[in-house]
Amino acid sequence: MEITKTIYKRLLESYGPQLWWPAETAFEVMVGAVLTQNTNWNNAEKAIISLKTANVLNIKSINQMTESRLSSLIRPSGFHRVKAKTLKSLASLIKREFGSCIEKLKELPANEKRRLLLRIKGIGPETADDIMLYVLDEPRFVVDEYTKRIFSRIGITPISNSYESWQKMLETEFGGALNDLREYHGLLVALGKTCCKKIPDCAECPLCSICVYGSAHQSI
Ligand code: SF4
Repeated sequence: MEITKTIYKRLLESYGPQLWWPAETAFEVMVGAVLTQNTNWNNAEKAIISLKTANVLNIKSINQMTESRLSSLIRPSGFHRVKAKTLKSLASLIKREFGSCIEKLKELPANEKRRLLLRIKGIGPETADDIMLYVLDEPRFVVDEYTKRIFSRIGITPISNSYESWQKMLETEFGGALNDLREYHGLLVALGKTCCKKIPDCAECPLCSICVYGSAHQSI
């Protein structure tokens, strides 16, 4: 379906490269992917700054510190107790199975990497695919709430609303190389934050002319 490529092209022209994921290290991406669950990026970022200020945003420190201290440091991200458990499990897995070397995790077959991530309590398909795409160099279409909202309003939906159906549809239609998929996700987030909010601002949207919702509401 050419429309997924048209959307990508228009967003890239309008917003420019987003250069996602915003992080200094691979482990920071992993931590950010967990911290941004069920909250906005601003809150996740506050928790990341808190970890950086305490100089503990690394595999060794997360493994060594108590869960309660970690929980308190990441409080700004919300659901901090659950997320602390998840981060401890993630850091422990990387240390135990890969000698704290994320590059070794990268060497596994794609399905094996994803299966390992999904075995960690608190890591679901979206978080796993954030990590697959931005850390483990695996081309995945990440499906988040912005993705569903934007494509639904445009008029592109899969046969079922499951994560897998959304991902299969978008990966089949768009294809896309690793860097394009990384950009696409960042661009959808940019659109979701600026125009395609809960109450959309279609007049300012670069997709208005190809969007079912936007076209209908502009002509009223
Ligand atoms: S035209 Fe409106 S509804 Fe459609 S993608 Fe843009 S902001 Fe969202």
